[in-house]
Amino acid sequence: MQSNSTLHYDELEAYPCQLPPPSQLYHLEPIDIGSPLVESLSSYVVRLAEAHMHTPSTIVRYVVSPLLNHTYFDPDKTTSMSYKAAGAMSGRSKTAGEWVGALEKLTLRKDLSFTTFLPFQAIFPDKGLLKADRAWCPLCIECWKSEGKPVYEPLLWKVQEVVVCPIHQTGLITICPNCQRKLPHISSNLVSGHCSRCGRWLGHSDATMCSGASEEQIWAAKSVGDLLAHSPSATSSPGKEAIMGFFDNLIKGRKGSARGLAAIMGVNHSYIIDWRNGKYIPTIGALLHICRSFRESLVEVVFSARIQKKPATMPRNGSVPNMLTQKRAVKRQNKINWESVEADLADMETNELQVGVIAKRYQCSPSSLYRKFPDLCRKVSTLRHQNLMHKRTEHDEEIKQKIRLAVNDLVSQGISVKKSAIYELIGGRSDKKSKLINEIIIELGNADLQGQRPDIR
Ligand SMILES: [Zn+2]
Ligand SMILES: [Zn+2]
Repeated sequence: MQSNSTLHYDELEAYPCQLPPPSQLYHLEPIDIGSPLVESLSSYVVRLAEAHMHTPSTIVRYVVSPLLNHTYFDPDKTTSMSYKAAGAMSGRSKTAGEWVGALEKLTLRKDLSFTTFLPFQAIFPDKGLLKADRAWCPLCIECWKSEGKPVYEPLLWKVQEVVVCPIHQTGLITICPNCQRKLPHISSNLVSGHCSRCGRWLGHSDATMCSGASEEQIWAAKSVGDLLAHSPSATSSPGKEAIMGFFDNLIKGRKGSARGLAAIMGVNHSYIIDWRNGKYIPTIGALLHICRSFRESLVEVVFSARIQKKPATMPRNGSVPNMLTQKRAVKRQNKINWESVEADLADMETNELQVGVIAKRYQCSPSSLYRKFPDLCRKVSTLRHQNLMHKRTEHDEEIKQKIRLAVNDLVSQGISVKKSAIYELIGGRSDKKSKLINEIIIELGNADLQGQRPDIR
C-alpha cells in the first residue's frame, strides 16, 4: 500500500561557501621543518616541479621568475652568476628573501623561510656559509628511496662547515662518482637524488665507499643541525646581540682582556673587539670553532641568554686550538715523526689505505701528507680506489649469482621471468639490481630461458 502522506523537511539555509583561495602551485609541505634535516629551498623547488610533472626549468622560467625582480638566475644556463644564485637561494641574502617571497605567494605557504638561512640573517655573514656545489649523503638518499620516502636535500648538507652526515657519520659526497663532475644546487632538468649532468642515481648503501668522519666534523654537523631544528620554535629570529653578548662574556672570562682572548684563539684582538661590538659578525666556521673550544653549544649561544649570565672560562686542562693562523699546526707538524709517517704510508699491506686515516693518526692534515710524500700518498689513494672497485665488483658478482639462480628457479617452475618475480627471490629492488638483471638476461641464452622472452621492463 502506498502512503499519500507528504514528507516535510526543514528549510535549508543557503550561505556563501568560504573556501580558501586556491594557490597557483601545490601547497607542498617542505620536508622535516623543525628537524636537523629540514629541506633546503633549492630541493623544495625541485620537488615542487616534480609534483607538477615539470622540470625545475619550466617552473622557474614561466612561474617563479615573473615574480622576481631580476633575471640573473636561469636554470638552463651554467653561467657563474646563475650557478651562484642557485646556491644563494637557500642562503640568508636578498636572493633567498625574494625566492621565499615568490614561492610563498605561489604556494600560499608561510614557512618557506625555514628552508633557508634567512632566520639567521643577523647571526651569520654570507662568507663561508654555503657550499658552492651540491653535497649529498648517498646512504641517506638510498635509505629514503628504499623506505619509499621522498628523496630531497637537507639544508644542513649545503652548509660549508658541514662535511659529514650526522646520521651515518660518513663524509658527504661532492663529485658525481659516475661523471666525476661537481653539480650545481639546481639546474634545468634536475631530478631529486640524481646527477644533473649524467642523470645517474647518486645513492648507494655501501658505507665502505664513503670517507670517515672525525669527532669534530660530527660535532659541527650536529651543532648546525640543532640550530636549524630549533629555529621554527623560537619566538623570534636571533639578533646579533646574542653574538655580541657571547664575546662580551668570553672577554669577561679573561678578566676583561680582549687581547688575552685573542692570544688564546690566535687571532688579532681587533676581531674580538669588532665581534663584541657588533661591527662585524664571525663566520659560521669561526663561531663553531670558538664554541667547540669553550665547550659551549652553538644553539645556546645563538638562542639563549643563559650563557651570558656567567662568564665563560677556559676549559680546564684544555687548550684552544689556533683559529685563523696556522702557528700551532706548524709547531705540531714540526713534532711529527715523519719517518714513522712515511713507514706507515709505505706499509700498503697492512695500512687502511686511506691518507686521511694516517693523517688523523699523526694529528695533521691529509694535504700536509700529500705535500710531504706526494708519490706515496697518490699510491695509497690509487690502491684504496682499486680496493673499493674490487669490493664493488665482488658485491655485484654476488647479486648477479643470485639473479642467475632466481631466473633458473623461475624457468624450471615454468613461471614467466619478470623483474618483479626476480626482485622477490633476490630480496628487494634497487636501480643497481635492475641494471644487473638486464645484464644477466642478455647474458643468458635462449636455451637457459627455455624459449621464454622475459619481461624486464
Ligand atoms: Zn647519511
Ligand atoms: Zn654524474
